[in-house]
Amino acid sequence: MSATATAGAITVAAALAAGSRRLQSCSDSPRLDAELLIAGLLQLSRSQLSARADRMLDEVQQSTLEAQLARREQGEPIAYLLGSQGFWTLELRVTPDVLVPRPDTETLVEWACERIAADIEADVADLGTGSGAIALAIARERPRARVLATDASVAALAVAQDNASRNALGNVRFAQGDWFAAVDGGFDLIVSNPPYIAVGDPHLPALRHEPLSALTDGADGLRCLRTIIDGAPAHLKADGWLLVEHGYDQGEAVRELFERAGYAQVQTRRDLGQNERATGGRWGAP
Ligand code: GLN
Repeated sequence: MSATATAGAITVAAALAAGSRRLQSCSDSPRLDAELLIAGLLQLSRSQLSARADRMLDEVQQSTLEAQLARREQGEPIAYLLGSQGFWTLELRVTPDVLVPRPDTETLVEWACERIAADIEADVADLGTGSGAIALAIARERPRARVLATDASVAALAVAQDNASRNALGNVRFAQGDWFAAVDGGFDLIVSNPPYIAVGDPHLPALRHEPLSALTDGADGLRCLRTIIDGAPAHLKADGWLLVEHGYDQGEAVRELFERAGYAQVQTRRDLGQNERATGGRWGAP
């Protein structure tokens, strides 16, 4: 330790090494997590951080880091510790009131953007918007679209609304309510990433820090998907599309729900991990 350092102070490099060692058993990306936490603490980017390996962390910074590492060790998502998460081209504020946006959900955004021409004033609804990730990414890509984002949770809607203003997106409005309870008018496109994990699913305990109501329907995993698939036709314009995200093993069951409800062109897309992730169909004449 250098002569100018205060007692107990450590360098960024030492904190990074100790932090990533500590997160080894609980994280898939211990080094990255440690970098993100320390960069956040010092208000630096990750590249700035690597150029300042000799900078000292004072005792307050060390104890903040210590508390964050302890929370991460308990399985809390890094996005909650940082308070934000990148999604699509957006930086979104996330709190424990909303699901952490997943890269897999970009499959749904890409598909939605293909369905809306850039030069038309399409009406789009995102049901159960959470942080606003899907609605806001569509609004960013399609500035002429009028996007309605709904959620049953008042707390989630407040986060989504805040994200719209942070990202300066004016073409999104918000409404509180369960699925179609909050929807008015007819839409060219309805999208949703509803809770689709079955109640006894072994993956749920690992997700315990995220809102349970955004993850599981408390039933077979298809309950909310069924409600949305059966209810959307009453809110779709002729030839409007419904696109939903679902679990990696639900593709066949979800296609069957679309087909039984009478949609045309029912199809499924895969995510980056090659899992079936989103299914959609067109409502209207075959
Ligand atoms: N994709 C999330 C997960 O498996 C679940 C999201 C959801 O239920 N809509 O962790």
